[in-house]
Parts: sequence; structure tokens; C-alpha cells
Amino acid sequence: MSTVVGRYAPSPSGRMHLGNLCCCLLAWLSAKSKGGKVVLRVEDLDAMRCPRSFADLLEEDLAWLGLSADEGGSRGGPHAPYYQSERSALYQQYYDKLEALGLTYPCFCTRSQLHAASAPHRSDGQVVYPGTCRSLTPEEIAAKSAIRPPAWRVQVPDRVVSFTDGHLGRYAENLAADCGDFIVRRADGGFAYQLAVVVDDALMGVTEVVRGADLLSSTPRQLWLYEVLDLKAPEFYHLPLLLAPDGRRLSKRDGDQSLEHLRDRYTPEEVVGRLAYACGLTDTPAPRTPADLIDGFAWEKVPKTDILLPEGLF
Ligand code: GLU
Repeated sequence: MSTVVGRYAPSPSGRMHLGNLCCCLLAWLSAKSKGGKVVLRVEDLDAMRCPRSFADLLEEDLAWLGLSADEGGSRGGPHAPYYQSERSALYQQYYDKLEALGLTYPCFCTRSQLHAASAPHRSDGQVVYPGTCRSLTPEEIAAKSAIRPPAWRVQVPDRVVSFTDGHLGRYAENLAADCGDFIVRRADGGFAYQLAVVVDDALMGVTEVVRGADLLSSTPRQLWLYEVLDLKAPEFYHLPLLLAPDGRRLSKRDGDQSLEHLRDRYTPEEVVGRLAYACGLTDTPAPRTPADLIDGFAWEKVPKTDILLPEGLF
């Protein structure tokens, strides 16, 4: 049987908060409970927002909690580099493949044009791209390029892509109707998350992706990219969001839920024990190490809808 490979794929634009930590804990437990390993890939495509100092702190926080990755980050490994900001040459190869398949085209639409009232919106608030720039003539492209550089979109088929999420069950989307042609390369030349994440997970041999349910709707387009790029897709497990006791979404700006403050107030075992309890893995918030939780881990214990942190737990 091949080894299970899970991953952490944080975008360290600040200190980790409990929501990020919940995702890391479950990714670690899911892989370790199957005898697998975990890879750390730092998603710093937006290098200005994700300086290396935050990535280093994140690794230190993971080590403090007993959740260090087996491969990746500053530790390196056979698939180095593990920082997306250093992997552009790989993304370029796969971007070229999309181009050779005739699937990419330049898009000159501005943000405000995209958000015009007439544009259809997805349930998550994103705009379904209406295909405005799909059929521009070479002359139109030349004229528009003289004004500003385009972003590059990939043309999706009118097809339903469905999959069974390991935690949330069946999910399906019609790519053309529900998603629309999406950006694979930004106007500044950088590669977009949707392409980078697919290339990285495939090349790093990741067999299971554990991440927040806010990315559930990205999965059909990623599965389609795996298919057209002839890459092997992993299994997916999407997690409900962890919310503050008053129902607010946790954010990196929420100081007291960040690792910086948690480390002042609790031992690593206290943080892990309380978080495991909030995620339904244990009956009490007693202190635990991640290793203590491996035997009793089961996805069925984790709620499928948003998790409200109990008042006073942290
Ligand atoms: N880098 C993304 C984030 O921190 C996660 C991407 C993924 O797991 O696919 O939200």
C-alpha cells in the first residue's frame, strides 16, 4: 500500500490563529492515523504579504505544539523548494501545457467591470466570469495590451465535475455555469493559486488534502486542472470553519486567538487538548499531545457544520 501524504499549505500573512491550527491538527491526525506523513508547503505566492519571517514563526509554532511536518518548509526534502515563491519555473511548465492545449487567453477586464451588477455571482460571492475576453481578435488584444498587461484565464468546459469529499460527502459544480473561466496567471506575471496548488500537490506526491470548507468550491476546477494536466489528484477533506464564541469568523487580526497569545497563556498540551475538544475529538478539554489523539481519531467525530468555540474555552 502506498504511503499517505498529507500537507499543510498555509499562506503565512500573520501569526497562526486557532482556525489555522485546527486545520493543521486535523491534517496531521488524518495522515498519522493512516501511518502517513505530512509535508509543509508555504503558499507565499503573494511574497509581500507573506514574508519568510512569518513562515519561520509558523514552523516554530508547529514545533511547539508537537505538529512539525515530516518534510518541507525550511527543513527541505526531495521536492524542494517548498516555498511557492521559489517554484515559478515549475508552474511555468504546466502553464505552457495549458497554453499548448489552446486553453488560455488574455483577459483585460478590470475588477469593477467584473463586479458590475449584471455579472452572475456564485453562492460564495465570487463573480462567475462571463467570458468577456474569450473571443478577442489579435488586433483587439494588441490594442488592449498597449494600455495594460492582461491576466490569463483558462477556458473551462460546460461540464459537471463532481467528487466525494472525505468529510462533507458529494459535491458537484458545472464549471461553465457555476465557476466560469478562471485566472491561472496574474497581470503581474505571477501564477495564480488554482494552478500552483494543483501542480504542487501533484509533484509533492500529496495523497490527501485537508483544508477549510471555504475552499470546497475551488475543488471542481482544481480536479479539472489535474485532468487536463494529466496529474494524479489527491483525496479531499474539507473542514467546517471554526468561529469565535460570538459567531464571528476568526482572523489573523484576532490577537487573543493567535499563537502569540496562546503561547503566553497555555502549555502546548492545553492548546491541543482544548482544540481537540472543540473539534469533537475528545469528551473533555483535558491536556493532550497530538500523538495522544491518533488512536481515537475518526473523521466522523468532526462536525460537518461551522464549529462555534465554546465560551471561555480559550
Ligand atoms: N494557502 C491556503 C490558505 O492558507 C490554503 C490552500 C489549500 O489548502 O489548498 O488558506
